[in-house]
Amino acid sequence: MDKVTPKDVFSANCERAAPLLKQLRTDGIGHMIGGKIEPSVSGDSFETRSPIDGAVLATVARGGADDIDRAAKAAASAFKAWRDMPAAMRKKLLHRVADAIEDRADDIAVLECVDTGQAHRFMAKAAIRAAENFRFFADRCAEARDGLNTPSEEHWNISTRVPIGPVGVITPWNTPFMLSTWKIAPALAAGCTVVHKPAEWSPVTADLLAKLVKQAGLPDGVLNTVHGIGEEAGKALTEHPAIKAIGFVGESSTGSAIMAQGAPTLKRVHFELGGKNPVIVFDDADLDRALDAVVFMIYSLNGERCTSSSRLLIQQGIADKFIEKLTARVKTLNVGHPLDPATEIGPLIHERHLAKVCSYFDVARKDGAVIAVGGKAHDGPGGGHYVQPTLVTGAQANMRVAQEEVFGPILTVIPFRDEAEAIEIANGVQYGLTGYVWTGDMGRALRVADALEAGMIWLNSENVRHLPTPFGGMKSSGIGRDGGDYSFDFYMETKHVSLARGTHKIQKLGI
Ligand code: NAD
Repeated sequence: MDKVTPKDVFSANCERAAPLLKQLRTDGIGHMIGGKIEPSVSGDSFETRSPIDGAVLATVARGGADDIDRAAKAAASAFKAWRDMPAAMRKKLLHRVADAIEDRADDIAVLECVDTGQAHRFMAKAAIRAAENFRFFADRCAEARDGLNTPSEEHWNISTRVPIGPVGVITPWNTPFMLSTWKIAPALAAGCTVVHKPAEWSPVTADLLAKLVKQAGLPDGVLNTVHGIGEEAGKALTEHPAIKAIGFVGESSTGSAIMAQGAPTLKRVHFELGGKNPVIVFDDADLDRALDAVVFMIYSLNGERCTSSSRLLIQQGIADKFIEKLTARVKTLNVGHPLDPATEIGPLIHERHLAKVCSYFDVARKDGAVIAVGGKAHDGPGGGHYVQPTLVTGAQANMRVAQEEVFGPILTVIPFRDEAEAIEIANGVQYGLTGYVWTGDMGRALRVADALEAGMIWLNSENVRHLPTPFGGMKSSGIGRDGGDYSFDFYMETKHVSLARGTHKIQKLGI
């Protein structure tokens, strides 16, 4: 048999995408409310376009407060039956969702590429990871309610957890399918019903998820999806009195807005926000492995990744040599069509995001840094929102390019003298999501890990996700943790029950 070439895979991906896109253009995207696909009450819609060539992919229902109200009511009326369903049954249904996702994994991958511009080499695994999210939490349905037994002399004290109620999940456009399942799967496993508001720049796979969940047999109203603009549908969701909590992934400034919007109805919030994460490379590190990880953690997923290591802190003695090797690697990164398996960097999600990312080239230059590689938009296939992978050197820690989240394939390099200075620079930003440390000295690795103000730290490793571990950030990077039991703590209320042994003295008043 002939060897399958990257060109063959590219053609196969395009062939797979074509009928799906045709169907999408014909059907458009509606809300999923109470198990029915619905237009907006207002009749309003918007167009979603591909970042590859600006082609309209679908007309999407533009939800407002009325649609959110219908969805919240559907979630509220489905809640009791879902909450009280035996855990074994919920587990079975959530595994069926995982099966349905796996069955359509290749379709999900190509649709995600065309809708977001993410390269197929990364998106090929996104649906599989999404299915794993469902399986992981499905298997924990029964234990979600477990509590503690903390007996005292006079009372038998037990705690248990109960699902908080219908919840809102608001998600961003970077790897939207995987990310949505990361929030929705634990909420459903906990026994909550959900209203999902996906990002307006990437509605396509959220629509597919809603349909797959229905196809898997989840009762109507358990997962509702309302499309629309953040300040309209998103805001209405955070303000709705029937919605008890908001799981949000997005920008830090949006998190602040949501906190204010949710205050009158005392919303519980869980925030996964922005990052400006450091990767610290000491001179005693395995520099080859460190280089691979440095390149991967900023240039994969178009740099549109909250956990990306967008600041490289490099020890002075090895800086020149490391930067030389890094420069060579960045120059050979392959920018191209997202459906081409050879592509490492695809087009950015939207022209507004491209403009934001490109604005940092001037910002960096004006502040006195050097654009060592890249620094321009890129003329890629389809003429879409491509940008050159960019390396910024000669930067100071206080420059804007070293402080602000750019969310694109731009790496800023900052040299440091010693451990103390590395920690000071690493912590000298408003964010605190992840940190990466490369050193051969295990004592130092642990000291630095201890000192870093970040929710997640990898030592001698890139970000490798393990679902039971806590995921989340400190400072402006978030509130709360996801993963394993941490997710259940958010989506559930802990309830204390105290049973008297009948022996304790009760104060007698009014005698
Ligand atoms: P964004 O904050 O602009 O939008 C995220 C979602 O919030 C969208 O669905 C949007 O419609 C909605 N929204 C906007 N305004 C709203 C409002 N007033 N009320 C309610 N909802 C509103 O973020 P984005 O640009 O879509 O995504 C990129 C950001 O997400 C980056 O900052 C990135 O770091 C962050 N992110 C964080 C994590 C994490 O785990 N910490 C993961 C992925 C992305």
